[in-house]
Amino acid sequence: MAHDEAKHVPGSASTAPIRRRQWLGLAAAAPAAGSALLATGAPAAARTKTQAHVVIAGSSLGGIAVAHRLQALLDGVKITLVDAKEEHNYQPGYTLVATGVWPVAKVRERNDELQPAGVRWVKEMVAGFEPEANAVVTASGQRIGYDFLVVATGVHLDFAQIEGMDVQAIGREGLTSIYPGPQAATATWEAMQAFAAKGGQALMTLPATPLKCAGAPLKMTFMLRDRLARAGTLERSKVQFMSALGNVFGVKVVNDNVLARWKDLGIQVETTHKLTAIDIGRRVATFTSPEGERSERPYDFVHVVPPMRAPDAVKKSALAWQDGPFAAGGWLEVDKGTLQHRRFPNVFGVGDINGTPRGKTAATVKKSAPVVAGNLAAVIAGQSPLLDFDGYTSCPMITREGSALLIEFDYEGRLTPSLPFIDPLQDSWFAWLMKIGMLKPAYMAVLKGRV
Ligand SMILES: Cc1cc2nc3c(=O)[nH]c(=O)nc-3n(C[C@H](O)[C@H](O)[C@H](O)COP(=O)(O)OP(=O)(O)OC[C@H]3O[C@@H](n4cnc5c(N)ncnc54)[C@H](O)[C@@H]3O)c2cc1C
Repeated sequence: MAHDEAKHVPGSASTAPIRRRQWLGLAAAAPAAGSALLATGAPAAARTKTQAHVVIAGSSLGGIAVAHRLQALLDGVKITLVDAKEEHNYQPGYTLVATGVWPVAKVRERNDELQPAGVRWVKEMVAGFEPEANAVVTASGQRIGYDFLVVATGVHLDFAQIEGMDVQAIGREGLTSIYPGPQAATATWEAMQAFAAKGGQALMTLPATPLKCAGAPLKMTFMLRDRLARAGTLERSKVQFMSALGNVFGVKVVNDNVLARWKDLGIQVETTHKLTAIDIGRRVATFTSPEGERSERPYDFVHVVPPMRAPDAVKKSALAWQDGPFAAGGWLEVDKGTLQHRRFPNVFGVGDINGTPRGKTAATVKKSAPVVAGNLAAVIAGQSPLLDFDGYTSCPMITREGSALLIEFDYEGRLTPSLPFIDPLQDSWFAWLMKIGMLKPAYMAVLKGRV
C-alpha cells in the first residue's frame, strides 16, 4: 500500500518497490552519494552508477533542466520524458512580446533541441498518476512504470472559472491576456496599440490563486500606462487594477513600493474584486466581492489573468495535497526544503506544480532543479535527501520601457538580492537590460543544466 510505503524513509526494505530502489542504489558508487552529488555538472568519475528508470512528467523548463542534471549525476540512468507539447516557449518573454519590446520569434524554441540526448520522449500528456503502483498512464492509455518520478507539469490556466471568457477571442474587442501562449501575447500587443491610439478605460485583473510570475500582471499594468503616455492618450485614459486579493503582490515591501509608484502614476487600485464573468461583445466585466456582491464595469481594454491550479492529472491524483492551503488548487505535496513528495519518497516535484509558498518562476527552477536532481540522485544511491531549497523566487518588474526593478525573495518573503549594486526597490536601466538581454541566455543555460 502506498501509504505504508510512504511511511518509510527512502531505502527502507519494507515493500517490494522500496527493495527494488534499494537494489538500484546498491549499484551506486558510495562516494558519489556524498559531496559529489552536490556539485554542478559532477565529473564523470564521480557519477553514481544506476539502472534506475526515472519518468519526468512535463518536458519544459523544470523537466528538461532536471533531466540534464540527472544525466550528469547518474551513470546508466534511464529517463523517459512525458509531454505532448513540442514547442518550447520562453514564457518570461510574453510580457515583452505583448508590450511591443520583442518579436514573437524570441519566445519560440523546439523541445527536441533542448532535451538531453539519450532520453525517451513520449509525446503524450499524463492522464493519470498511480503512485501506489509506481506508474503513470498517458492520454492514449499507455501505462509507463517507473522507479522514480519527477512531476514538472506546471500550472493549468483555469479560464473556465470566468463565465463568458473565450481564449480564441483574445485580441478582439479590447480583450487581452498574455497567458495562453505566443499567439495570445502577439494579439495582446495588437490590441494594446489600438487602445493606446485612442485611450479610454482599461481594466487590469488579478485572481486570488497562486500565480506563475505573480509580477507579470503588474508589469503589464506599468507597460500599458507607459504605452498610453508615449502615444499621448494618457489624459483621456483611466487605468484601473482590479485585484481579487487585499493587495497586489504577496511580498509586503514590494506591494507597498508598487502601490506608491502607481499612486504617482495615476493608476487606480481596487482590491477584493474578483473577475467572475466577461461579456466580450458588450465589453463589460463583472467582478464579485468576497460577500458575493457583483458589480459590472465597462471597459475599452481588459487584461485577463486566469486563476491557476494544478493540471487535472495531478489535482485528481493521490500526489496532490489532501488538506491545508495547497489542497484546493491540487498542488503537488512536496516538502518545501527537499522538494521530495511528503508521502511517496520516490517522487519529486520541480517548478510551478509544487505546492509550496511562493516559488513559481523560472528563477525558482534555476535554484531548485539542482536540489531536485541532487536529492533524487542521493535517494537512488540509498541516502536521504541532502539539499535544501530556500524558496528563491525572482521577478524583474518592468516599470516602463527602459527601466525595471529586480526583485528576489525567499519562502518567507525576505528580499534576497544577489547583485550587491542593485537596490531591489529602486528601478534601473541595468535591471531592464537584464530583463531584455541577459535573462533568456540564463534561462537556456538552466534548461541545459549548466547553471
Ligand atoms: C506571462 C509570464 C511571465 C513570466 N515572467 C517570468 C519572469 O520574468 N521571470 C521568471 O523567472 N519567470 C517568469 N515566468 C514564470 C516561468 O515561465 C515559469 O515559472 C516556468 O516556465 C516554470 O517551468 P515549469 O517547467 O514548472 O512549467 P512550464 O514551463 O509551464 O511547463 C510545464 C510543462 O508540463 C506540461 N504538462 C502539463 N500537464 C501535463 C500532463 N498532464 N502530462 C505531461 N505534461 C504536462 C506542459 O505541456 C508543459 O510543457 C513567467 C510566466 C508567465 C506565464
